[in-house]
Amino acid sequence: MDEFVDLRSDTVTKPTPGMRKAMFEAEVGDDVFGEDPTINALQEKVARILGKEKAVFVPSGTMANQLSIKAHTQPGDEVVLEENSHAFYYEGGAGAVLSGVQFFCLSGKRGLLESSQVEESIRPLDVHFPVTRLICLENTHNRGGGTVYPIKTLSEIYKLAKARGLLVHMDGARLWNASAASVIKPEEYAQWTDSVSVCLSKGLGAPVGSLVAGSVPFIDRVHRFRKMFGGGMRQAGILAAAGIYALDHHLEKLKATHDQAKRLACFLSGLKGVSIDPAEVETNIVIFDVSKSPKKPVQIAGELRTRGVLILPMGKTSIRLVTHIDISDAGIEQAMEAFGQVFS
Ligand SMILES: *Cc1c(COP(=O)(O)O)cnc(C)c1O
Repeated sequence: MDEFVDLRSDTVTKPTPGMRKAMFEAEVGDDVFGEDPTINALQEKVARILGKEKAVFVPSGTMANQLSIKAHTQPGDEVVLEENSHAFYYEGGAGAVLSGVQFFCLSGKRGLLESSQVEESIRPLDVHFPVTRLICLENTHNRGGGTVYPIKTLSEIYKLAKARGLLVHMDGARLWNASAASVIKPEEYAQWTDSVSVCLSKGLGAPVGSLVAGSVPFIDRVHRFRKMFGGGMRQAGILAAAGIYALDHHLEKLKATHDQAKRLACFLSGLKGVSIDPAEVETNIVIFDVSKSPKKPVQIAGELRTRGVLILPMGKTSIRLVTHIDISDAGIEQAMEAFGQVFS
């Protein structure tokens, strides 16, 4: 797919020569025995960045979220989240299967919840009701269009949670993007959570890996369940080295990918049949509506493909574009030209 301008996801990036060199040279050991120095270094580094006591490396963002849900809840507990959030929408019903929890879905504004909504969702103590235990928030919100949680909202929800004896987990697969856009440090976001998951394989461009961060007793539980779920890895320092390299070299590249998304959004807003407000594009995700176009998203995707541009239809009338560190400015030009032709 190298000849394509691939805007389907920020997961399509390939390890750079510098990253491959770091992986090649990584010192490794058996991580199930806690003896992989590179894994240990990555876990300490991410815990520090997020201002949490401890972090643990896991194979995927899905496992990071599901381990967090598992470690925070008992079967039958209720988890409050947004209806388009990854942990509910895209994780195959894992919360029900692996943790036996029930989801209470709220409808957010571009994926973001208000503390008043969360407050109304908390169940009274009564034998009829499940026990509300956990609130999951996604920052940035993928299906919401890469939206960034206002830090004030996060602090309000966290204070509400503490007042009511609830826990807060943040799905921060793209917390790095939130931070790059708002210039609010990851640890400032993380202070309003009990646990955070972050991905190394999205915007940061590592081939594999996520981490969960939180208190020592919480991470010890996550660690136990990681083994139970089959996520214990051996000489995985090769993967952790890619993550360390990504944090050291790629965090600073995210802002440019946001600028590319903004450019695309501004261009698209001038095309016939496209509805999008470029002001709403905050990070690297551009979701636009084509219900006023005579063409359906699948047809649009096909026509763009013949022009060397890959995109992802999202639902019956929307299209999602994601910019990332493997897209050059020339690639953005090529994509705009292709969009111009398809919507002419
Ligand atoms: C991609 C993503 C995940 C899951 O990550 P995988 O590594 O694909 O399992 C979780 N949350 C959000 C918001 C994501 O975008």
